[in-house]
Amino acid sequence: MALNLVIFGPPGAGKGTQSEALRDKYNLEHLSTGDMLREAVKNGTETGLLAKQYMEGGKLVPDEVVIKIISDKVATIAADRGTLFDGFPRTLDQAAALDKALEGNGRKIDAVVFLNVPDEEVVTRLCGRRMCPACNAIYHVTGKPPKKEGVCDNEGAALIQRADDNETVIRQRLDTYHSQTQPVIDYYGKKNLLKEVGLTGSPQETSRKIFEYLD
Ligand code: AMP
Repeated sequence: MALNLVIFGPPGAGKGTQSEALRDKYNLEHLSTGDMLREAVKNGTETGLLAKQYMEGGKLVPDEVVIKIISDKVATIAADRGTLFDGFPRTLDQAAALDKALEGNGRKIDAVVFLNVPDEEVVTRLCGRRMCPACNAIYHVTGKPPKKEGVCDNEGAALIQRADDNETVIRQRLDTYHSQTQPVIDYYGKKNLLKEVGLTGSPQETSRKIFEYLD
C-alpha cells in the first residue's frame, strides 16, 4: 500500500536531509513546496514573482497559492505511489486542504514525522547550510561538508547559500513557524498521526529512528 507522509518541523530541523533518506527507502514521490517555489522564482513565473517577496522576508506565501500548487501536483501522482510532503502543510488551512486533496483520490496521510529542534540550534544550522542549485542536495560547512569544499558530491555544481539563510531572515522564519505553523502539530496530534523525533545524534541515527517507527 502507498505510504503518504508529512515531514514537519522548524526551518533547519533537517527535513530536507531526512526527506532524501525517506524517499529512497520507501520509494516516495518527494514534494517540497520550498523547492517548488524556489524553482518558480528562478524561472520568473507569475507564482515565482509573487512568492519571492514573502520568501525573502521569511513570511509564508499565501495559502491559496501553495494549496493550488500542491493540489495540482497531488492530482498527477498515481494512486499506488506514496508521497512525502516536505514543508507543507504550514498552516491549519493548508492541513485541511491537503486532507481534502488526498481524499479526492482515496488517499490519506498515514504518519507525520515531527523533527523538533530548539531555536538556537536552528540558527547555527541554517547559517552554515549550503545547497546544490542543480539537485537540491543539502550540506553544512561543518556538520555535513561535501567531499570537495564548495562543490556538490552528486552534480559537481558549485554550492550556494540560500538568500533566506541569513540571521535576520532566519529569526523571522522562526517567528512565522511559532505563530502560524506550530498549531498544525495539534491538528495531527489529535488524529494520532504524530511521531516526534528529538534532536539526537547524527542524521543517520535520526533516520534509523524514523524507519524503525514507520516499519
Ligand atoms: P523551505 O525551503 O521549506 O524552508 O521554504 C522556504 C520559504 O518558502 C518559506 O520561508 C516560505 O516563504 C515559502 N514556503 C515554503 N513552503 C510553504 C508553505 N507550505 N506555505 C507557505 N509558504 C511556504
